[in-house]
Amino acid sequence: MKKYAAILLAGMMALSLAACGGSSSASSAKEDAAPAEAEAVTEEAEAEAGEAVTTEAAAAETAAELTTVSEGELHMATNAQFPPYEMTSDGEGYATDAAGDVHFEGIDVEVAAKIAEKLGLKLVIDDMEFSSVIISVQSGKADMAMAGLTVTEERKQNVDFTDSYATGVQVVIVPEDSDIATVDDLANDKMIGCQDGTTGFIYCEAPVEEGGYGKEHVNGYPNGAMAIEALKAGKVDAVVIDNEPAKQFVAANEGLKILDTEYIVENYAIGISKDNPALCEAVNNALNELIADGTVKQIVDKYINAGE
Ligand code: GLN
Repeated sequence: MKKYAAILLAGMMALSLAACGGSSSASSAKEDAAPAEAEAVTEEAEAEAGEAVTTEAAAAETAAELTTVSEGELHMATNAQFPPYEMTSDGEGYATDAAGDVHFEGIDVEVAAKIAEKLGLKLVIDDMEFSSVIISVQSGKADMAMAGLTVTEERKQNVDFTDSYATGVQVVIVPEDSDIATVDDLANDKMIGCQDGTTGFIYCEAPVEEGGYGKEHVNGYPNGAMAIEALKAGKVDAVVIDNEPAKQFVAANEGLKILDTEYIVENYAIGISKDNPALCEAVNNALNELIADGTVKQIVDKYINAGE
């Protein structure tokens, strides 16, 4: 545990820097604010409510000023197999793919739809493997990566991040009858399944001396569902993944449980091209308005806290 925690914590370092690659400013204080602390900014929300009309009126103007990969649209790169943040919808959902065929819902999708609305843009979902979302933004194919995307120092080299809008924790899923009781037991020559390119994958495949379990003990899968299938088939002994998808996978698959282990908190934020600081600013401002007026909390509660 100690080793695992150490590397996780190392990954979390320096997360209090200002959003959008800017220097430290008043807005940076909000970056570390977990959703639970969103109430603390209620006063601010009330103050900002008065500005709402101006904000709405400014939306069309904002859209005209912003450059996006496709005019009038805001393309969100994501992996829609990450419930409750992004998944396909049987109904209308809150956005579609470019062709308009597939509908999507989830916390990220709904928050993104609200952001797009504020900016006078139409949200379009570009569904891909998680490991491609940052590259897609870097290479100018999508406008923003929003995928339960954890802020890390390494990723900050490739994209600029908005302030954080949610938190996640890496947890361990094992079969109910597993002899793995703590994360320390993962070091006993176990095979771990992860989603390719995720923080869980990066932490686990790190060399033992750096707090990981070593590459040879980790199997990467294109998405969480496939990692879970591998666990059920006995190809891996455990799956390391973010807590909320973990809860949903365990609820949907009999015979699995989440280890009651020491949780490490990560911050989720939206990644935007370093070549488009204006878009990052605009998205970040819209996001902060949605945090301040309670919209983000409302959406999170709808998917996560309801019924608990
Ligand atoms: N939060 C994790 C990461 O950013 C996993 C995200 C995901 O799989 N969609 O690496």
